[in-house]
Amino acid sequence: MTGFPISGQQSDAALVIPQLDDHQSRPLMAKMARIFREIAAMSEVKRFRQHLSLPEDTRRLSQRAFRLYDEYLIYTIGKVQKKGWRVYCGPGCAACCFNMPAGISNWEFLIIYDHIQQAGQLGKFFRRSLESYQVLDRVKRQLVNGGIEQQIESKSEYDTLLHNYSLAKNSCSFLSDTQECLIYSARPLACKMHFAFTPPELCDPAHHLFSQGVRVNLSPHAEVEDELKQLDGHLNLALSDLLAPGLAALTANVMRFSTITWT
Ligand code: SF4
Repeated sequence: MTGFPISGQQSDAALVIPQLDDHQSRPLMAKMARIFREIAAMSEVKRFRQHLSLPEDTRRLSQRAFRLYDEYLIYTIGKVQKKGWRVYCGPGCAACCFNMPAGISNWEFLIIYDHIQQAGQLGKFFRRSLESYQVLDRVKRQLVNGGIEQQIESKSEYDTLLHNYSLAKNSCSFLSDTQECLIYSARPLACKMHFAFTPPELCDPAHHLFSQGVRVNLSPHAEVEDELKQLDGHLNLALSDLLAPGLAALTANVMRFSTITWT
C-alpha cells in the first residue's frame, strides 16, 4: 500500500519506528483481513458492476474492519510515543493534504463514493476530483516533456510524479477552507496511515529541510493488503489507485452518478 510520499530518512525512521507486528497488533490485523475475505466471498460482490448493489452486511463488516485499523493505529502510536517520539499530526493540520493519496483500493473508493453520495455532495466532489486530476495530468505531461517515457511505469517515475504533484500545492478535493477533511470518517487508509514525527513545516516538499522530516506510513499488515487486493479483483472495477482519478472514474464510468443500493 503506497500512502503518502515519505522523507529521505525513511530507512532511519523505520529503524526507530517499526511496523508493529506483536501479540496485540497481530490479532487486530488478522481480524481485519478475515473481514475483507468474508466480504470478497459474497457472490454479490462479483456482480456489483452489473447491479450496482451490495448486501448491507458488507457495509457493516467494512466499518468494523476500519475500526480495527483505528485500534491498531492507537496501539501502535501509543507504543511509539512511549519511546519518546512526538506525533505532530492533529486537528487543524493539513500539511499532508496537498499530496495525492495513493494506493487506494477499489473497495475504499466505493466507501468514499457512498459517503459523499449520501451527503448529497457527489457533484461537487466529482468536479473537484476532475480539477485535481487535471493538475496531475499537467504535472505528468511536464515529466514526459522532461524526458520520462509517455507512460509512468517504474516505481521511481511514479514517486517523482507524486512528489512533483505535491510541489504544485493543489489541495485535496476534500480539504475544506478551514483545513478540515470533509470525508474524515471515510478517508482512505492512505491518509489514516500517515504520521509526522517532526513539525508540519517539514512536511512541505518545498521546505529546505523536507528531507530531514520524519514521516512514516503505518500501513496495515501484508495479510490485510492481500485480502483487499483479492476483494478488488472480485469487484473488477479497474480504477486508478490515486484518489482524484480513481474517484472521477468510479463516478462517471462505473456508477454514472447513481446510488449504491444496499440490500
Ligand atoms: S482525503 Fe482528507 S485526509 Fe486525505 S488528503 Fe484529502 S483532505 Fe487530507
